[in-house]
Amino acid sequence: MDRVKLLGCEIDTYTFDGAVEKGLELIGEDKVSQVVTINPEMIDCAGADVNFAEILKNAEMVIPDGVGVKIGLKILGYNVERIAGIDFAKKLIEKCSEKNLPVALIGAKPEIVSQACEKLKEEYPSLNIVYSHDGYFKEDDEVLNELKNSGARLVLVALGSPKQEFFINKARNILPFGLMVGVGGSFDVWSGNVERAPEIFQKLGIEWLYRTVTQPERFKRIFPTLPLFVLKVVKEKFFG
Ligand code: UDP
Repeated sequence: MDRVKLLGCEIDTYTFDGAVEKGLELIGEDKVSQVVTINPEMIDCAGADVNFAEILKNAEMVIPDGVGVKIGLKILGYNVERIAGIDFAKKLIEKCSEKNLPVALIGAKPEIVSQACEKLKEEYPSLNIVYSHDGYFKEDDEVLNELKNSGARLVLVALGSPKQEFFINKARNILPFGLMVGVGGSFDVWSGNVERAPEIFQKLGIEWLYRTVTQPERFKRIFPTLPLFVLKVVKEKFFG
């Protein structure tokens, strides 16, 4: 596995299975590890905020979630597999239920996170969810202490980016162990409140296109980002 650089951010080039294997290895270690599922908006954010850039640099795994990252790396000559964060996280949940490893979910609205837990328990009856909390808390320390006492080995954090990455970074100094993954809007999907794009869109890596068309408010946020991001990569490639 290599780390490649895209607009100043280092990104890991795992296959999906390789990423899951690495994730499981980190879950078993006696230290906290951070997984960042990176997209063009986050790369832009790292360019503007040194603290965020430092978090990305120190993350044990940075996996290319957005199709924009895949396109950017392709322009630089790297052919990497896009790993959707939501699929990666779900696979880890499945593995944790098989191995009876304790799991925690933090983020989203209160009813969403509890519905997501219920649905996951239906799908994986032996899943051991030891802690869950919504994502609208004021005191990080309170949640982090409860999380510490829970003994979770896999912690999924759905606060949106960059909030979830900062929260996970803080947890590094408090928890004794655990693999912590920023999962964005995944709980909304698992709770059954937000539909994923049809499989054909997922397979073609154009889930973003489906979401942009069906949720016009995302269009404003995402549309200028992607072409501008591609332009920046082209500029870096040819003009340094
Ligand atoms: N969210 C949260 N606390 C906050 C802000 C957002 O728990 O203070 C949740 C929100 O409810 C949603 C998730 O973060 O479930 C991700 O939001 P979004 O879809 O904007 O993130 P993205 O996947 O685009 O990074």
